[in-house]
Amino acid sequence: MGESAEYKKVTGVLGNPVSHSLSPIFQNYLIRTHKLNWIYLPFCIDRDGFELFINGMKNVENVLGFNVTIPFKERAFQCCDVLSEEAKKIGAVNTLLFKNRKIYGYNTDVNGIVDSIKRMGLSSLSGKSIVLIGAGGAARAALLALNQLQASKVIIINRSPDRAYLLKELCEKWCSYELHIKELGYINETLLDMKPDLLINSTSLGLKNESLPIDFKKLWKKCRVFDMVYSRENTPLVNEALKNGFLAIDGIYMLVYQGIKSFTLWSGINNVESQKVISYLKKKVRYGKSPCNR
Ligand code: NDP
Repeated sequence: MGESAEYKKVTGVLGNPVSHSLSPIFQNYLIRTHKLNWIYLPFCIDRDGFELFINGMKNVENVLGFNVTIPFKERAFQCCDVLSEEAKKIGAVNTLLFKNRKIYGYNTDVNGIVDSIKRMGLSSLSGKSIVLIGAGGAARAALLALNQLQASKVIIINRSPDRAYLLKELCEKWCSYELHIKELGYINETLLDMKPDLLINSTSLGLKNESLPIDFKKLWKKCRVFDMVYSRENTPLVNEALKNGFLAIDGIYMLVYQGIKSFTLWSGINNVESQKVISYLKKKVRYGKSPCNR
C-alpha cells in the first residue's frame, strides 16, 4: 500500500489507566514538527488482554511500536524477542519497537532520569551520595541511571523495607556503588547524617498532592531535589524545595527526555531539541510557575 495521507503509521502509549497521560501531547508535537505521517494515541488496554494485543499488533504493517506505562512494564519485558542492556538489567520495558515481526524492548526511563540529573548540573555522580525514596518500578530505573552516572553511595528509603531489600538484591548484580536501606520513618535522621548531594522521589506521593514527610531544615543546602512525579501543577515536593531555596525539578523533564528517546528509536531522528518540547508541553498543560529554578 502507498503512503497516502490517510495511510498513517501508528504509535502510542499502552496503560490502564492512560487517559491522564501527557505523552500524546508532546509526541504528536514531535510528529508534526518532523512532518511525519504518523499518529500517537493513548490505548487503555484490558488487564487480561495485554499480551494478546501486542502479539497481534507486531504483525500490523503500519504499527511502529508503543510506549508502555503502569501496570504493564514487567509484562512487556516478558513479551520481547530482543532486549536492550538496560531492559535486561531492570526487568522492565517502557518502549516497544516492532520490526520484521519481532518485538524489540527498551527502557528509556533510564535515559530520562540520566538527562534530568544532568539538567540539574550533575554531569557525573562520582564521589556523590544520593537518597532515593521509593522501591517500585521507577526506583529500579533510577538505580540503573545512578550507576551509569557513577554514583558512589545510595540509600533507598521506602515505606515497606522488604520491597527495598528485594530491589537491593536485584541491583547488587550490577551496581558499583555502596547501597543501604532505611525505613521511611527515619528519613529526616538519614538526611541529616548523610548530607546527600541529590534527593530523588520515586514514590507516587505527590500525584494527588500528598506531601513527603521531609524536614527541609535537615537537608544539606547544596542538595538537588528531583521529583519523578509530575502533574499539571508543580508537585508539593518541588514547591517545598523551591520555597526553602533548593534547586528542584519535577518529572515532566524525565517524561519528555524518555519520550524523545522512544521517538528516536521509532524514527531514527536523533537531533531533537528537548527544550522546545519541554516548553511546548508546559505551555500546553498551562503549567503555573516553572518547576526548575535555573
Ligand atoms: P510502583 O507502584 O511500582 O511504586 C510505588 C512506590 O511508592 C513504592 O515505593 C511505594 O512504597 C510508594 N508509595 C506508594 N504510596 C505510598 C504512601 N502512601 N506512603 C509511602 N510510600 C508510598 O510505582 P512506580 O515506581 O512505577 O511509579 C512511581 C511514580 O513514579 C509514579 O506514580 C509516577 O508519578 C512516577 N513516574 C514518573 C515517570 C516520568 O516519566 N516522570 C516515569 C515513571 C514513573 P511501598 O513499596 O511501601 O508500597
